[in-house]
Amino acid sequence: MLLSLENAQLLDKEDSLNRYREEFYLKPNSIYLDGNSLGLLSKRAERTLLESLNDWKEHGIDGWTKGKHPWFFLSEKLGEMMAPLVGGLANEVIVTGSTTVNLHQLVATFYKPEGKRTKILADELTFPSDIYALQSQLRIHGLDSNTHLVRVKSRDGSFLEEEAIIEAMTDEIALIILPTVLYRSGQILDMKRLTAEANKRGILIGFDGCHSIGAIPHSFTEWGVDFAYWCNYKHLNGGPGTVGGLYVNSKHFGTAPGLAGWFGSKKEKQFDMEHTLTLADSAGAYQIGTPHVLSLAPLLGALEIFTEAGIENIRTKSLKINKFLMDLLEQEATGLGFMIGNPLEDYRRGGHVSLEHKEAARICKALKENGIIPDFRAPNIIRLAPVALYTSYSEVWEVVQVLKKIMTEKQYEKFKNEREIIA
Ligand SMILES: *Cc1c(COP(=O)(O)O)cnc(C)c1O
Repeated sequence: MLLSLENAQLLDKEDSLNRYREEFYLKPNSIYLDGNSLGLLSKRAERTLLESLNDWKEHGIDGWTKGKHPWFFLSEKLGEMMAPLVGGLANEVIVTGSTTVNLHQLVATFYKPEGKRTKILADELTFPSDIYALQSQLRIHGLDSNTHLVRVKSRDGSFLEEEAIIEAMTDEIALIILPTVLYRSGQILDMKRLTAEANKRGILIGFDGCHSIGAIPHSFTEWGVDFAYWCNYKHLNGGPGTVGGLYVNSKHFGTAPGLAGWFGSKKEKQFDMEHTLTLADSAGAYQIGTPHVLSLAPLLGALEIFTEAGIENIRTKSLKINKFLMDLLEQEATGLGFMIGNPLEDYRRGGHVSLEHKEAARICKALKENGIIPDFRAPNIIRLAPVALYTSYSEVWEVVQVLKKIMTEKQYEKFKNEREIIA
């Protein structure tokens, strides 16, 4: 059956999440498909940020314990709100640091090379910042990353095979760090299976959840994941540079943090100012210093929406609207040189479509000129993320029509095929 604009309009009418669209600041005459890089501002996130600013205005130093959102407990409160999104207990999640800083903290805490087990296992497709962090952690231990950082290879440059990862879990591996969802191809790794295999071999395993938090459900505690970390500015819409998230399985509570600081204290002991740290009995123990309150504040409003809408409903729509985009591309854009570069199966696909084309860089520029915001990943990927909370099926229809026009009119030819400084 041929898909039409009427199909899209009908899907919008039946969409129970459609009502959240008006909660976000969407630009007129523009279609935003980059929520997987930086989610949009919602009115609720704006409200909680302004409330926190007002708490400062009204209460000065007393804002730590008084006001609408007392700052002293904000990281813990947000951790509790975020726990259902990762399938953790309320005290296993804390909102602190940033992705890369939290990775440093977790590796400093849980990487303990001993005897034959001295290596860290990662993969060759992972995000560069994670690799830089792992290389520098090895350096601190006086180990050479050429020999001690093992990167599982991808057979095709886009996907990872769980089988190959499991094969690499040898008795030389002390720690495994993997993405939940690959940032380019959008492949979901089988976290449950990989965790079970790592546990079986006595290897600790942690996940980078940047591309899955707020897009797909997780069951970290049920699966037995040791730890995880992620950022909250992508699918979670917490704002540019908002504070990140960290999960530690309760079986590890009490493990001394590799990078300790006074915010890792038990709350009631912190202001005793003793030189002996009394560690919090929760993921809060892995905080370092004073939280960035004004960067935490928008998350209160942003998470309220997730609590209300429900991550299962968000995932259901995300799968459906991404499939609609892929079906439309197949129907409308065949013969134009595009290739779908993400997994087609629902269970292996994250929250974005990864469209490959050899002219990708300049097609992205042409899309932007037409009011459509994608992002580009070198050398040939156009990432398009219809977001469950604020993208409509009608917009997806429009995007594909514009893309077709750009290609048939060769609009992209007036741009250079190279990336901008931020892609
Ligand atoms: C976005 C992203 C990061 C970014 O790390 P920051 O410390 O927040 O700059 C790291 N890893 C992955 C997989 C990402 O997608």
